[in-house]
Amino acid sequence: MYQSLYRKYRPKTIDDVVGQKIAVRIIKNSLNNKKINHAYLFSGPRGTGKTTMAKILAKSVNCLNPINGVACEHCRNCIEINSNESVDIIEIDAASNNGVDEVREIRNSVSLSCSSLKYKIYIIDEVHMLTIGAFNALLKTLEEPPEHIIFILATTDIQKVPSTILSRCQCINFESISVVDIKNRLKFIADEEKINIDDDVLLKISEISNGGLRDAIGNLEKLIAASSEKEIHMNDFNNTFGFVDSIVLERFFTSLVNGNLNEILAISTELYDTGKDYILFTNELIEYVRQKIRQYYNSSNGFCEYCNLIFELNDLCNRLKNTDNIKALFEAGIICLVDKENLGNDTVSKSNSIKTEVSKTSDVIDKKEEHLEENQSSSEEENQSLDDQRKKINLKNNEIIMNNTFALANKNDLIQLKQEWEKLNDYLLDKNFGAIACYLVDGHIRACGKNNLILSYEYDSMVDRGIEMYDSLVHVLKQILGENYSISLLTDEKWEQEKIHYINNIKNNIKYEIKELEKQEINESNEISSQDEEVQEASLLFGNDIIEVK
Ligand SMILES: [Zn+2]
Repeated sequence: MYQSLYRKYRPKTIDDVVGQKIAVRIIKNSLNNKKINHAYLFSGPRGTGKTTMAKILAKSVNCLNPINGVACEHCRNCIEINSNESVDIIEIDAASNNGVDEVREIRNSVSLSCSSLKYKIYIIDEVHMLTIGAFNALLKTLEEPPEHIIFILATTDIQKVPSTILSRCQCINFESISVVDIKNRLKFIADEEKINIDDDVLLKISEISNGGLRDAIGNLEKLIAASSEKEIHMNDFNNTFGFVDSIVLERFFTSLVNGNLNEILAISTELYDTGKDYILFTNELIEYVRQKIRQYYNSSNGFCEYCNLIFELNDLCNRLKNTDNIKALFEAGIICLVDKENLGNDTVSKSNSIKTEVSKTSDVIDKKEEHLEENQSSSEEENQSLDDQRKKINLKNNEIIMNNTFALANKNDLIQLKQEWEKLNDYLLDKNFGAIACYLVDGHIRACGKNNLILSYEYDSMVDRGIEMYDSLVHVLKQILGENYSISLLTDEKWEQEKIHYINNIKNNIKYEIKELEKQEINESNEISSQDEEVQEASLLFGNDIIEVK
């Protein structure tokens, strides 16, 4: 018979309970000292182990051979309770049995003796759901409980439990379980189930479960059921729970702070077409901004601007809950927000003026081409091939810079650069340099030698982005650190390989020789951009693709 993971891995002994150090200590002490109460009230958020603890307590007080108060798991009573067959353990879900009749029935059965165990245990879950009448009936029982009866009441809402009940119970609070504790438990379960699951996926499940282990295990189970393989990665998680890739969040955030409405609307359409939940996305965005603020707490520059963003996004989120046309409301909300917060105001007007400039200049090119009969290619195709060429050179230079960094690498330069790098933190929220500065501080500085440096990133897509906007990286570093740097970008994984390769070369006395960088060939479009400072500045902000407006 199929058993849910939650049931399968439900702790059977008090030492297996996840988190809840205080609750565990209180119960262990009372078991150890044989000071058993006749009524307990366990309160705390859902899925934090209240009913699990109730069952462990029920077993411990009934065990025939307890060791320091802990159930032996082997005696007749332990076996009977573990098999869920004992008639002396009565579980009542007050959420579905909130009537006086049920409690009256309890009162009548309370007087009957146990059928096989030492104690008859009543576990009443969600006790706050009982009606006033039922509470009063329960109160009468709690006032004069027979020796062989123990009540364990559980609630997620202690405020709704009358004080007359509370005063007759030993109240024990169950806390939300920490993300670390949940993650460790999920890891244990995944290992037991022989499922290979990425660490960041386990972390993400733990985070979305709001301190509830039951929900976390339920989510893990859902993910396992949805994945065909015994390997589970972040994209499986995103697909199963409707989350978006972190790259999309970053793209959206950057577009938001730059006031890049075209990109914002493009992402919105992507979300819509892939059936993503806008409310979930907005919440993810809030979390993303929160992390940005936390990460860069030291930077006071523009700090409140981003706090405001959280308030605005939260308002938007609430509004999205009450609409039938969520896409329209989401987009309108974001556009208003960009407007209201004046996000990317300078750059928007700049990019508009650039668009006009670029179309003017491409007109000029077109006219020139009309005179050049042998030139058959349209300016569009030419731009495309220039772009490809630029990419190719950037990729080649990326390799050369890595080589040169290895050739010149030394520890002092690395230490100094890492100190200098701190300055970037002051610009993370800067309207002009923020996006690039964020990108740079997200990287890991691996090596440095005389203004050559190697920067690594977790994902391929981050590396590709950096190579694409290479000129902007150099420009922003020059502006902030006052030096011209040559940067080589690669993934963390590739770095580990390159490092080993480098160490081997050093051991074998193979020297690195400094190589010349490939130059971008001077062509018309470069001439134009260097003539027009605004165009250049915009290309630094957006990367070149935005400027090529057709
Ligand atoms: Zn036992």
